[in-house]
Amino acid sequence: MTTSDTKLVLPTRIDDVHVQNFINGQWVPPSTGAYLKNVSPLTGKDISPLPDSDSVDIDIAVSAAKDAFPKWSTTPADKRAAILLKISELIKENIPLLSEFESLDQGKPLRLAMMHEMPPCVYLFAQFADIITKGIAETSQTTPFIHTPASIMDPKPCKIEFTTQHVPAGVAAIITPWNVPLEMICIKLAPCLAAGNTCVIKPTELTSINAYMLTHILKAAGVPDGVVNVVFGTGPRAGEPLVKHKDVRLVSFTGGTKTGFRIGGLAGGMGKRVALELGGKNPNLVFDDCDIDHAVATGIRSAFHNQGEICLCASRHYVQQGIYAKYVEMFREMAQTQLKVGDPKAPDTYFSAVVSQNHMDKITRYIRLAQEEGATVEFLVKRDDPKIKHISSDGRLTIEGFEGGFFVAPTLITNISQKSRVMQEEIFGPVVCVLPFEDEDEGVALANDTEYGLGASVWSLDKEKLDRVMGRINAGTVWGNAWFALSFSMPFGGMKNSGNMREFGTWGMEFFTETKTLSKHVYAEKPVSS
Ligand code: NAD
Repeated sequence: MTTSDTKLVLPTRIDDVHVQNFINGQWVPPSTGAYLKNVSPLTGKDISPLPDSDSVDIDIAVSAAKDAFPKWSTTPADKRAAILLKISELIKENIPLLSEFESLDQGKPLRLAMMHEMPPCVYLFAQFADIITKGIAETSQTTPFIHTPASIMDPKPCKIEFTTQHVPAGVAAIITPWNVPLEMICIKLAPCLAAGNTCVIKPTELTSINAYMLTHILKAAGVPDGVVNVVFGTGPRAGEPLVKHKDVRLVSFTGGTKTGFRIGGLAGGMGKRVALELGGKNPNLVFDDCDIDHAVATGIRSAFHNQGEICLCASRHYVQQGIYAKYVEMFREMAQTQLKVGDPKAPDTYFSAVVSQNHMDKITRYIRLAQEEGATVEFLVKRDDPKIKHISSDGRLTIEGFEGGFFVAPTLITNISQKSRVMQEEIFGPVVCVLPFEDEDEGVALANDTEYGLGASVWSLDKEKLDRVMGRINAGTVWGNAWFALSFSMPFGGMKNSGNMREFGTWGMEFFTETKTLSKHVYAEKPVSS
């Protein structure tokens, strides 16, 4: 098995993109013949429709993945690694095009896609190629005295050699969300393929274009037919039959907590392995003795990066009383002068459209709720920005040249109750609440007062306090004087209702493999008779 000589020809104009399912190495229409609308959040206009697949398509795709498993799972690691490296190379060559489609499909600034989201996709396939080339670390142990039935009645001590063996786990289901579309797929697909599994991917129905583009890259990189299958469609019609399919052994899901719990129940009830990477309502805990310039600048990024549509965005900032007023004032001032909203292609744009009309409606419902509860709500856009034509009372923005798009202003909320739904529920948009706290115990209690536990930041220049408080926060990732500093070689995942597993590096690999324990009786050496 070698990497393919198929030349990669990608559509370069969105009008030439015709999304089809990718099953057994072929691009095929859905069995239903039906297609879903795909609207660009930047313009509100239809772009490329996508298959509205159902259980019939899923059955065909899982069957292809099952048939491809014996060969792929026994393909030598160096051959699999060569294909992964080719995927990495082809993604790298196409970063500008993939970024442009990601921005058009998801609403994010082009620069964000180019600089922050495509490079990890390139890296991940190379990283897992390296992991399997070096070999997965196995554990071994030799136990000199363990009882084993040497005869029926009389177990004798003997020497046993134990070794672990990581083996491919089978057909995987990969189900992904819309906020970082291609990267979310790559985080799962790279270890899945490296481990020797085959899979069916069900990307989100809101941002499917780059999943389709990836199918061309996989084909050109020499991924054998059937090893990766991509079925487009909705969660209930296409996703759920995939989760429940009897031949799917493991399910890797990233998305909302409610969906994750449903999937976890369905798959867990069938004895499947399930990784759930779910929602967050992440705190940013800022002490009096922090570097306030650093804390505010990073605090703004943590609130509004990708329009607040990152699971790790910090939507609850707790600031110690002594600097609370200053923090809010600096936050407002810095956001209003530096945070450029609007045209995703302008190189200085930090903030663009949210993903859909429905999502915009959800975000603005929370803004109205805060207003009804008597909170102070401020929209942090530049008042003199000539491109902003209108700001509605609930934060919707009309941007010149993007009048049909779904834009919501970066929103700062103060004077709100900790008990408010705005403080407790995941909004997943550009809405940040800032509240004061008195002392360490109160700050930690407020930060932990949530059903979620994905990420958190703590800000203090007192090293002892920083370590102590970081240890007291219940979250899968806790940053000290930082935010969103991630390493693909360190575990990533959530506590509480934010998830049940860890991804990245060897942790990602662990999920996609079965670990066997081999336990071997070592006979005492006998002299070789001459
Ligand atoms: P979602 O739960 O609505 O959908 C996620 C995926 O699940 C989509 O592909 C969808 O079609 C599918 N789906 C929906 N119902 C299904 C069902 N019954 N069976 C099978 N599949 C089903 O989430 P979303 O709105 O796309 O994404 C936003 C959420 O994702 C937020 O909560 C965010 O915090 C979370 N997220 C978490 C992480 C993380 O690493 N923890 C990363 C990114 C996003």
